[in-house]
Amino acid sequence: MSLPYAPRFAYYDGKTQSSSSTSSFQSINPATATPLANIHTTTHGAIDSAIASAQQAFPAWSSRPAIERARILQKAAALLRARNDELARIETDDTGKPFSETSTVDVVTGADVLEYFANMVGGGGLNGETVQLRPNAWVYTTKNALGVCAGIGAWNYPIQIALWKSAPCLAAGNTMVYKPSEFTSLHSTVLAEIYTEAGVPPGVFNVVQGGAAVGAYLTQHASIAKVSFTGQVSTGQKVAGSAASAMKYVTMELGGKSACIILPDADLDAAADGAMMANFFSTGQVCTNGTRVFVPAALQPAFEQALLAKMQHIRAGDVHDPRTNFGPLVSKPHFDKVQAYIAHGIQHDKATLLCGGLGPPAWLRDTTTDSTHPAAYKNGYWVRPTIFTNCTDAMLIARDEIFGPVMCILPYDTISSAVQRANASPMGLAAGVFTKDLNRAHQVIARLEAGITWVNTWGESPAEMSVGGWKMSGVGVENGRRGLEAWVRGKSTLVEMGGEGGSVFAKL
Ligand code: NAD
Repeated sequence: MSLPYAPRFAYYDGKTQSSSSTSSFQSINPATATPLANIHTTTHGAIDSAIASAQQAFPAWSSRPAIERARILQKAAALLRARNDELARIETDDTGKPFSETSTVDVVTGADVLEYFANMVGGGGLNGETVQLRPNAWVYTTKNALGVCAGIGAWNYPIQIALWKSAPCLAAGNTMVYKPSEFTSLHSTVLAEIYTEAGVPPGVFNVVQGGAAVGAYLTQHASIAKVSFTGQVSTGQKVAGSAASAMKYVTMELGGKSACIILPDADLDAAADGAMMANFFSTGQVCTNGTRVFVPAALQPAFEQALLAKMQHIRAGDVHDPRTNFGPLVSKPHFDKVQAYIAHGIQHDKATLLCGGLGPPAWLRDTTTDSTHPAAYKNGYWVRPTIFTNCTDAMLIARDEIFGPVMCILPYDTISSAVQRANASPMGLAAGVFTKDLNRAHQVIARLEAGITWVNTWGESPAEMSVGGWKMSGVGVENGRRGLEAWVRGKSTLVEMGGEGGSVFAKL
């Protein structure tokens, strides 16, 4: 059967390697549950070849003047922007996220980060410092590329994750072997081709395809200097554990169960907007989602009314229609997982279902008044945007990362108790506060145990902002100035020109 997309293989030595596999699996369109492409699993031998290609490319790439690397990466950013809609359509087919999102967020924020790090290294961001110790001695420092690095991606923001990893990696002079999620691989070789077209030399950016076994082989490989991983906490523990045995550098961008705290003086309409963004954007498949919404008990009825009014603006539909803002979940296993959590919330946690619940969104249930949906959509992985209220901290739906469109409203009495409860999670990825009192906002933010925080907004993550989790949500950061430091190792050199710092033995 011919599929909508060409098969995907490994990419190394600057080209697609169609003989790199012996087995294959399929990428599935989540909106319709139909296959999009055959993805060929990269064999261990071909992973070795991809790493060898990256090793061979490293000396020349890392010693090239930073401004030259910058120029090439800027060109890649321009190519990404020129092909924005084409790439966004690929991401929409592969992830199910509406084109209204992928065309305005996914590729754009990836290209922004590429441009940001290219500009940073072109503008001296890899310079070290000089410290004069005494008239005849000083220390100077240099920032050195690590070598061949592995990037392992999650499925929710495929091309953005690939770029957030490869941009600082390559800008700093490293080479990369990247493995996309097996659920959303389509972007990977297109990105590799764009890098090649921009002038990135063969071997600098390489792709291998497959699931956990390919990821594990890559992580364990002796020639990998660093693993940058995005995914679940449980997988991150395995990857970091395996990398630790060889003292590899790691960046771990993991899951969360973030708290969104509405203070008593908040503009309720703006707060409801924030809570909507924090739960239903990308059908809830955003790592930083604020799924625990703490609301003053006295404001709960008004806040719920505000939310219910806004729920009317969620539009499930043809994911390529620019008016659609709510797509399916990414895959059948994920659909089953999210449905199971919704069922658990109703049956076992006995939370109050404010709206949503099991089954598909209204758009798919309504066959009389809305004829815009093709029959094929009925097989897709569609769920209803769901709000549970009167939740307590002990409920499973309020503790586990569901990674779907499921909001939990948790009423509170005092701000202090809300902060304490917000922090009572093993995870600490993001948090946010809504209030008109900015002094209070900063006091609350200072007490929240999370690496990414917002005041009176939710979700924006620009290139300039370092992002990374606290506690079980991760190690290290991506983006911002600190994002570049994650891809270099420092060397400090003390220079003695003769004088007081000489050998003690010479004075004996
Ligand atoms: P996952 O952990 O199942 O898979 C992530 C990647 O790891 C995939 O490429 C997978 O093939 C690979 N993998 C699986 N087992 C492996 C192993 N043993 N060794 C090496 N690689 C292995 O995660 P997912 O379901 O794809 O993504 C969803 C998760 O990602 C959520 O928890 C979400 O919060 C998190 N996430 C975090 C961030 C962040 O920046 N903190 C961003 C996006 C997603």
